[in-house]
Amino acid sequence: MATMGKKTKKGARDVKAATKARGPKYVYFFGAGKADGKAEMKNLLGGKGANLAEMVNINIPVPPGFTITTEVCTRYYKNNRKYPAELKPQAEAALAKVEKIMGRKFGDPENPLLVSVRSGARSSMPGMMETVLNVGLTSKTIPGLIKKTGNGRFVYDAYRRLIMMYSDVVMEKASGIEPAEGHAIRHKLERALEGVKKDNGYKSDTDLTVDDLKKLCDTFRAIIKDTLHKNFPDDPMEQLWGGIGAVFQSWMGKRAVSYRKIEKIPEEWGTAVNVQSMVFGNTGDTSATGVAFTRNPATGENIFFGEWLPNAQGEDVVAGIRTPNPVNNAGKTEDTKHLSSLEEVMPKIYRELFAIQKKLEKHYKDMQDIEFTVEDGRLWMLQTRVGKRNGQAAIRMAVEMARQKLIDSGTAVLRVKPEQLDELLHPSVDPAAEKKAVEIAKGLPAGPGGAEGRIVFNADDAEAWARRGEKVILVRNETSPEDVHGMHAAQAILTAKGGMTSHAALVARGWGKCCIVGASALNVDANKKEISVHGKVYREGEWITLNGTKGRVYEGRLPLKPADPDSNAWYKELMKWGDRFRTLKVMTNADTPNDAAVARNFGAQGIGLCRTEHMFFGPDRIKAVREMILSDTLEGRKKALAKLLPFQKVDFIGIFKAMAGLPVTIRLLDPPLHEFLPHTDEELRSLSVDMGVSFEQLKAKNKSLHEANPMLGLRGCRLGIVYSEISEMQVRAIMEAACELTRDKVKVIPEIMIPLVGHVNELALLRKLTNAVADIVQKEYKVKVPYTVGTMIELPRACITSDEIAVQSDFYSFGTNDLTQTVYGLSRDDAGGFLPYYIENGILKGDPFITLDQDGVGAFMRIAVEKGRKIKKDLKIGICGEHGGDPKSVEFCHNNGIDYVSCSPFRVPIARFAAAQAALKK
Ligand code: ADP
Ligand code: MG
Ligand code: MG
Repeated sequence: MATMGKKTKKGARDVKAATKARGPKYVYFFGAGKADGKAEMKNLLGGKGANLAEMVNINIPVPPGFTITTEVCTRYYKNNRKYPAELKPQAEAALAKVEKIMGRKFGDPENPLLVSVRSGARSSMPGMMETVLNVGLTSKTIPGLIKKTGNGRFVYDAYRRLIMMYSDVVMEKASGIEPAEGHAIRHKLERALEGVKKDNGYKSDTDLTVDDLKKLCDTFRAIIKDTLHKNFPDDPMEQLWGGIGAVFQSWMGKRAVSYRKIEKIPEEWGTAVNVQSMVFGNTGDTSATGVAFTRNPATGENIFFGEWLPNAQGEDVVAGIRTPNPVNNAGKTEDTKHLSSLEEVMPKIYRELFAIQKKLEKHYKDMQDIEFTVEDGRLWMLQTRVGKRNGQAAIRMAVEMARQKLIDSGTAVLRVKPEQLDELLHPSVDPAAEKKAVEIAKGLPAGPGGAEGRIVFNADDAEAWARRGEKVILVRNETSPEDVHGMHAAQAILTAKGGMTSHAALVARGWGKCCIVGASALNVDANKKEISVHGKVYREGEWITLNGTKGRVYEGRLPLKPADPDSNAWYKELMKWGDRFRTLKVMTNADTPNDAAVARNFGAQGIGLCRTEHMFFGPDRIKAVREMILSDTLEGRKKALAKLLPFQKVDFIGIFKAMAGLPVTIRLLDPPLHEFLPHTDEELRSLSVDMGVSFEQLKAKNKSLHEANPMLGLRGCRLGIVYSEISEMQVRAIMEAACELTRDKVKVIPEIMIPLVGHVNELALLRKLTNAVADIVQKEYKVKVPYTVGTMIELPRACITSDEIAVQSDFYSFGTNDLTQTVYGLSRDDAGGFLPYYIENGILKGDPFITLDQDGVGAFMRIAVEKGRKIKKDLKIGICGEHGGDPKSVEFCHNNGIDYVSCSPFRVPIARFAAAQAALKK
């Protein structure tokens, strides 16, 4: 039907008018081998529009159309929701061009052109914005189209779809109407459709006859009038501009706004609108529609992978209304092997599609997610974009594409988001426990890994429960954009319907979240809040476990197994490539030999922060710690510390051994002493019995240790100075451990770190003490240990006077948690009261405790680096603190002359990778 050519006189006139339209260019045409736009113009044309143009430019069959730019959206909102004056004439001119190519006219009773109105933001927001198909069908154009196609069934099927989409998207959602659950116009119309099917005993939408559909359309219009108190528009232009307006409206819709917040997409970007001539996958058995990926997005395997439906329109596949068939035989699974593939049913079309997807992947040099429609034996491409993939797939694809020479190894490293590695570092269901578990259902493995959680049935509950600290699994029949916030809050997502390209699968894949879709045995009743399956019922709050890698749902809680990334050959290869580019060193924060060993396995090049206070809390020594605190005399404290010494020494021996040959940075005691005492009267009473000290005495001690602002009180080096015997004991323990191991030929590199230095004199004093103790211990053991003494930079004053401090310091380690607190005057423990509000309302772009505040805290760091290196050219500088494992902060460190970052063991691979990317980007 969508044949090209055939000029009409009127069409030619309109084209002339187009060239006259003045002003900035708001409308970009594409079609018939030529497009105004191209792939690089994503910012202006949105992803969909830019790629439609690009496909036209490389001679791939795309139905002609035009894109209204994102600029129009931005102006529309700036200008009180009014379009720029140039828009209408430009759009009309472009429409005329489309009409000319198609040989049909929009709204023409004899030979009507139909179009789709499609949104398309810069980066894909799956399902967030709305699309209306079959725009232009009215009481005037319907008879003409029936005459032309000789297919009344198809025309009325198209019409009922238009009515459903338009009333939902344009008349309800874009108008800001928020109906109660189950009362949305879409649901009402769907129920009417289900009613017809049920009354006639039909199984599928395709069973409906012309008369059924005709009647259904009348019913639909009546329901709309009744519910929305407006007539469904019967004017093609009103439909078209209604659709365009709805796309712009939906940019500010609740769901779009919430998705943008999660994905950090700025509001100013706006969305484009694509108006495109319709091609029809629902004209009969020689028509079809589908969605495919140039490689498997779940595993990364280099096999063309997709789903299709005969005699259907595009949205059917994505919405998961019918269970789709696999595109090819290679993609068949146990569950789909009985279904016929496109390869079998339409072999010629399949070959053409296969060639196009190859061409697209080669052209874009990345895995593509494509939409296609077959109309009466002719193939049309409707969309291509870089396909979402989970971390495992991203890694495999990057490595295999580099091996194929499609990309180079640097590009391969840049292809994988550091966060995507996280998935491989996530737990999976313990296979031994899984064997014995009670299986509830099977589904499609849409998002890998294992997850356990309590069942919830809607997004709001998921969010509310998660906020209370509950682990939940969101269970739905299918998900829609309304559910995104709940999907985000849940450990995992489980749906009864939908395929691998359904909304749930797409969103979960983007986040690397465990997800199972199409678990068709489940009867999910969201109202009653229960699942029934094979006679069993599971209610809200009950625990289930998901194996998202295999698509299996189990009863209860199964143990999860820690990740084992090194069993993945592609991961290992990619990390190796990354390390070739990386210059920043990656160390770890570890306080136990076990953590140290885990981190070393992940590639840590030493310990950047070993917190000694954690060792004080061990049940075998906390008593000695408290004895020390409670003692009022130096003698008493020394006696207690002597008891602690062997414990500390053993700790250090274990850690040094685990990190043999690599530097271990040990921080002397940091927190205020009151943290080691209990606080309630009850606890104090039982302690008083334990320690043989009176309750009153304990209470008084507690009171004396109380500080109005402990964060700025007697802690860090201040403690080590006032109670120098503590520092002495710790240095002795470190050096005894080091000397003993050195004597045993284990290579030990201790770096002693003094916390919270604000004035150089503090450091000078403790450095002298450290050196004195270290000298004595080395003499006792008759060995030399190459130790260094440095400081943690966590106060603004230290940054500013870094030229003085550097004189006394062998190395710096920025304690960016405390530095953020002290530069910002922001207490991490109290920021919860307002920081979320700040971020929600755009006052701050993000949490400065997660991603380093480069302009403020970063500026102090730059000063410290610059002044320090002026004194000592080779001063070793690193950061410890949460930021060491945050990719953006790692990039900042790389770009600002920092030598290493230190982060928790499980973040080490991510930091390594982020550091490699930072080097590549620079
Ligand atoms: P989304 O961004 O949610 O994927 P799309 O704009 O891609 O929305 O459209 C939804 C569905 O409608 C897709 O399957 C698409 O292929 C189909 N579609 C859009 N425009 C046309 C058209 N002109 N002809 C046929 N099908 C179309
Ligand atoms: Mg699409
Ligand atoms: Mg600190």
